Amino acid sequence: MNSESPADAPAQRCGLVAIVGRPNVGKSTLLNTLVGQKISITSDKAQTTRHRIVGVRTVGAAQFVFVDTPGFQTAHAAALNRTLNRTVQGALADVDAVLFVVEAGRFDLADAKVLALIVEATGGGGAGKPVLLVANKLDQVRRRTDLLPWLKGMQERHPFAEYVPLSARSEADAARLLDIVRPYLPEQPWLYDEDALTDRSERFLAGEIIREKLFRLTGDELPYASTVVIDQFEEEGDLRRIAATIVVERDAHKGMVIGQGGERLKRIGSEARQELERLMDAKVFLELWVKVRSGWADDDAHLRSYGYE
Ligand code: GDP
Repeated sequence: MNSESPADAPAQRCGLVAIVGRPNVGKSTLLNTLVGQKISITSDKAQTTRHRIVGVRTVGAAQFVFVDTPGFQTAHAAALNRTLNRTVQGALADVDAVLFVVEAGRFDLADAKVLALIVEATGGGGAGKPVLLVANKLDQVRRRTDLLPWLKGMQERHPFAEYVPLSARSEADAARLLDIVRPYLPEQPWLYDEDALTDRSERFLAGEIIREKLFRLTGDELPYASTVVIDQFEEEGDLRRIAATIVVERDAHKGMVIGQGGERLKRIGSEARQELERLMDAKVFLELWVKVRSGWADDDAHLRSYGYE
């Protein structure tokens, strides 16, 4: 809440913030803590086609709009082909700040690749846009002083705008991070109404989460052309019944999604379900199907069901 008197009330600030980093550094965890329990998401108000708005948090006069960055979010980052490179660059071109998440005390080849992409996409340090180093999982660092030489090393690697060691699970740390990011948001009116943002479309969210798991767990095998369609979304009190179809281009892709003995599909479903339950604070019954899109005919006949749990 804003406690300043109207005379010196700060102007509204609003900006796009990208959270990037190699898989497993804690990006989703951080996003969840930053935007609160339930992700606030809108499907109909997305500002650009380059971004997917994954969460919005308004604190005082500042509105933080968190965006997803294709290519960084999934195992596809390992591929780093040219097309992907361009996608990433496009996505980072118009954000106002980049949160580069790593694990405190670690910096491996995958981190280096992500950083190289960021630097390329943001124009490097100096006049480039602010890249803030978020050193996550601070709780796993035994002695904070051990981190000092590492931070110094990071400083030499890139002139980050800020260095923020934290634990993504900590609400207090997330609040501190927002304070640090605030000055980097441009002064401009909010894009979103403060209250209009809760839980606009759980259905949309379901599709996005399944899609994210799909790409994360298939690595760079699966072409981006694959999509997820939500066939059914029903709310029954504390229960959400969701049926979704993963649509792939070829039979071979279907095999990739399903995996040996259905293992991969099972994992996609179970990870998506767990995340959705957390985000929606509800029990989720999720049924996943895989379907090959045929250019010639409706191939519903080939539809196969892999329900579980
Ligand atoms: P992402 O792949 O970058 O989105 O990473 P996730 O958010 O899925 O986190 C990867 C793993 O790290 C999960 O098991 C998280 O629970 C864990 N994790 C995330 N943040 C922290 C943290 O601050 N401390 C610890 N100890 N673990 C964390």
